[in-house]
Amino acid sequence: MAGASNFDVVVVGAGVFGAWTAWHLAKRKQRVLLVEMYGPAHARASSGGETRIIRTGYGPDEIYTRWSKQSLGQWKDLFAATGMRLFHETGVLWLAREGDVTLEQTRVALQACGVKHEMLAAGDLERRYAQVNFDGVARGLLEPESGVLMARRAVNCVVESATRMGVNTRIAQINPPRGRSPIESIETAGGERFAAGSFVFACGPWLGKVFPDLLGSRIFPTRQEVFFFGTPPGDPRFAPPALPTWLFQGDEVYGMPDIEARGLKVALDRHGEPVDPDTQSRLPSREGAEWARAYVARRFPALKDAPIVETRVCQYENTSSGDFLIDRHPDFTNVWLVGGGSGHGFKHGPAVGQYTGALVLGEGAAEARFSVASKSTQQQRAVH
Ligand SMILES: Cc1cc2nc3c(=O)[nH]c(=O)nc-3n(C[C@H](O)[C@H](O)[C@H](O)COP(=O)(O)OP(=O)(O)OC[C@H]3O[C@@H](n4cnc5c(N)ncnc54)[C@H](O)[C@@H]3O)c2cc1C
Repeated sequence: MAGASNFDVVVVGAGVFGAWTAWHLAKRKQRVLLVEMYGPAHARASSGGETRIIRTGYGPDEIYTRWSKQSLGQWKDLFAATGMRLFHETGVLWLAREGDVTLEQTRVALQACGVKHEMLAAGDLERRYAQVNFDGVARGLLEPESGVLMARRAVNCVVESATRMGVNTRIAQINPPRGRSPIESIETAGGERFAAGSFVFACGPWLGKVFPDLLGSRIFPTRQEVFFFGTPPGDPRFAPPALPTWLFQGDEVYGMPDIEARGLKVALDRHGEPVDPDTQSRLPSREGAEWARAYVARRFPALKDAPIVETRVCQYENTSSGDFLIDRHPDFTNVWLVGGGSGHGFKHGPAVGQYTGALVLGEGAAEARFSVASKSTQQQRAVH
């Protein structure tokens, strides 16, 4: 619980971005308050899923390759220091159709960044992963050292570690900042005030609700459904190491093997309908379940009649391009906006936190593609 309500920095939002921002600021000896309205990585947060992929491939977008590599190191260090097993090195397999240029761009970026990878021809894929139907797949690229983060538990691990470094935490809903810039304090819905030198709003899909004029039409929360399929009894073919995590952009689908016995995970990466993260239904749709059943039957024939054993309904918090939003608020010199993870942000939590912490402390060069100014009100997805 917070003591004196006077801090160097108040971070609003304990999803993966806010948690790591608080962690990095504490490491820099800042007095930090982390305020969250529901609880770290709660069931409605974008960071609240069981699992998230960490891969370094991003086509030609090398900045994300570098950030992911850096982040993987920090995740592993945190888990080693805390004795938690929250990263599974399943490997991540990219699948591509004939003529897909992204795979080659990814190979070039991984080579340039010193990331271990292996190119696989269609025949290699079929021999190595006989449990998969690779119909329409011309080649693959395997990142053997990438894998899966146990998402909501990993965020809790970051918050606990930050707390041990002195970060205060509080459950409260913060009102939008008001007054003359620079602001001296922010207020909770219950009327309590927290004073600080700087304020970071890492509110994920809620950013448009907290800043409706600035971000209401620039952050696009979309409904995303996730399905887990039960594997046959005594059959190890759908668990690591037999099956890696995989992405097939040609189908706009990704999935992962049976981790911690939750089942084989499959999800459509295409943006769903616009939603409100507070109120959207968390029950999966009949159409979504039918699509998932048909997809699994096609790609994993042995799972044709597999039962759906678990589902999740979450939301992406997309920007127009898929690039993150990390910038100073245009009206308040000491207010920072952090979010726009756009369906791929989780893995980058450590790098986002480190970058944001440096900006708040007046260090480092701001990356133009993360600016508010670069965010359009028309969606044209470029980063995946
Ligand atoms: C189905 C799905 C699959 C995904 N798969 C991947 C993947 O495989 N790999 C990957 O890297 N990324 C993935 N992502 C994306 C990733 O999960 C998100 O980009 C990331 O979790 C966003 O984190 P965040 O901290 O910005 O937002 P959140 O986790 O939503 O956190 C924001 C927090 O702010 C709090 N908050 C908001 N307003 C207030 C307020 N006024 N006062 C107090 N607190 C407030 C909220 O309660 C919330 O806890 C996926 C996302 C989804 C939905």
